[in-house]
Amino acid sequence: MSRERAPLAPVGVFGGTFDPVHYGHLRSALELVERLQLDHLRLMPCAVPPHRDLPTCAAAHRAAMVALAVAGEPRLVCDSRELEREGISYTIDSLAELRRELGEGHSLCLVMGCDAVHGIATWHRWQELLDLAHVVVIARPGWQLPAAGPVADWLHRHRVAGPLPLRERPNGGILIEELRPLAISSTEIRRLLASGRSPRYLLPQAVLDYIETHNLYH
Ligand code: ATP
Repeated sequence: MSRERAPLAPVGVFGGTFDPVHYGHLRSALELVERLQLDHLRLMPCAVPPHRDLPTCAAAHRAAMVALAVAGEPRLVCDSRELEREGISYTIDSLAELRRELGEGHSLCLVMGCDAVHGIATWHRWQELLDLAHVVVIARPGWQLPAAGPVADWLHRHRVAGPLPLRERPNGGILIEELRPLAISSTEIRRLLASGRSPRYLLPQAVLDYIETHNLYH
C-alpha cells in the first residue's frame, strides 16, 4: 500500500433520501469514486429531511436498502449516522461529525445533484458547508445551475476546474462533474410499484427483493 497516498485520498459523502436507492445514485457514486480517486464514498440516507415531506419509507428500511445495494463494492459504504441523531437531519451536522472523525487535513467531498444546488440557500448554515468540505455537483439531465443570485455567486467564487484541488486541500472547492446521465428517479420507481408495474433493472435486484419482502411502496 502506498504510504504517501492513503491518508490523502479524499472521502466522499452523498446524502439523499434514497427512497429507494437506484442505479442513478449508484452509478454516479462509482463514477465519482473513480474520477476523484476517492478512498471511498459514503451514501448517507437522511432520517428527517428538512425540506421535503417525510419519505414514504422508514429511515431504517431506506438505510437497509442502501446497505444491500453497496454490498460487495468496498468503495461504496452506507453511512447511517443521520438515523442515530434526534430531530431534523442537517447536512452541516453530519459534515462536522465526519470532519472530527477524519481530522483537519483530510479532504472531504460532499456530493449533491443539481436539484439540491437550486435549494441550497435554504439549507441550515449553507454558507458554512465549504468550511468543512468541498462540494461536488452532479450535472443531471434536464437541470441547469442557477445563473444569478447568491447561489450563482457562491458557485462562481469557489468553483475549481478539475479534481486536483480537491485532493490538495481538505475543503473549500466546488467541482461540477458531468456524469453518465441515467434518467432514473425514486419517484418514478415508487409510482411504478404503486401502480403494480415493475421497476426491475432500474435498481439492484437485492433492493427490489427487499421491497417485495417488506411490502414497501404498495
Ligand atoms: P425523489 O424522486 O424521491 O426526489 P431521487 O431519485 O431524486 O428521489 P434522492 O434520494 O432525492 O433521489 O437523491 C439523492 C441525490 O441523488 C440528490 O442529490 C439527487 O440529485 C441525486 N440523484 C438522484 N437521481 C439521480 C440520477 N438518476 N443520477 C444522478 N444523481 C441522482
